[in-house]
Amino acid sequence: MLPSLFISHGSPMLALTPTPAHRFLRELGQTLSPKAVVVVSAHWETLSPKVSTSAWPETIHDFGGFPRALFECQYLAPGEPELAKRVATLLDAQCVERGFDHGAWVPLSLMFPKADIPVVSVSLPVRWSNSELAGVGKRLAVLRDEGILVIGSGSLTHNLYEIMPQDSQAPEWVDAFADWVNARLVDNDRKALLNWQEAPHAHDNHPTPEHFQPLLVAMGAGGKASQLHHSVEHGVLAMDVYAFA
Ligand code: ZN
Repeated sequence: MLPSLFISHGSPMLALTPTPAHRFLRELGQTLSPKAVVVVSAHWETLSPKVSTSAWPETIHDFGGFPRALFECQYLAPGEPELAKRVATLLDAQCVERGFDHGAWVPLSLMFPKADIPVVSVSLPVRWSNSELAGVGKRLAVLRDEGILVIGSGSLTHNLYEIMPQDSQAPEWVDAFADWVNARLVDNDRKALLNWQEAPHAHDNHPTPEHFQPLLVAMGAGGKASQLHHSVEHGVLAMDVYAFA
C-alpha cells in the first residue's frame, strides 16, 4: 500500500532551482511508481470540493514576477476522467475541467519528469474545519490500496510577507512552529494537529491557513507520519515532506 504524502512546494522557482528540496523530490519520485496521483493543492481553493475531470490538463502559471523560463514550463501529464469521477463520488464533490496549478505541477514535474503518470486534481474546501479536511483524506485513503498516490501539496511554513533571500537562516519563530508540528507528527498526536492554530507562532507562519491545510488531508489519508525531508528556503518556507504510511 502506498503512503499518502504531504509535500511543501515552496516557491514556484523550485521547479528550476536545484535546492536540497528540489533534489529530494527528484529522488523521491524514483522510489515510487503509482498508477495515478490524486493531488490536493493549496492553490485550488473552493467553498465545496471539486475534482478535475480534464483528460489533458493544461499547465497553469498561477504566479507573477518570475523569470520567463518558469512560464515556459509545461507539465504534460494526462488526467484520468474515470478516476476523477470516482474521486468525486468518494468526496461528494463536483466535477469540473481544470488544469494543474503550480502546487500540483511544480513538485510532480520533479518527481515524475516523464509526465507519464495520470494526475487528478482535487480542490481544497478552504473554509472547512480541520477535522473535515482530515475527513477528505480519510475518504481518499481507499485509493492507496490500489496503487494511487494521494498527495497534499502546501508548505509547512508559509509567510510570504517575511520572505528573505534564498539561503537565509530560518528565524526562531519558523523553527519553533516547524519543530512543534514535527514532534506532534512523530508522536501521532492527531488531536494536537487538529488544533494546529494553537501551536507556537502558528499565525506568524500561516497568516492564512491554505498552505497548512493539505497536511491535514494527507494525514487523514494515511497512518503514522515519518519526516522524509526538511530544509528551509527563503528563511520562511520550510520544505518538509512527510509520508503517512
Ligand atoms: Zn504555494
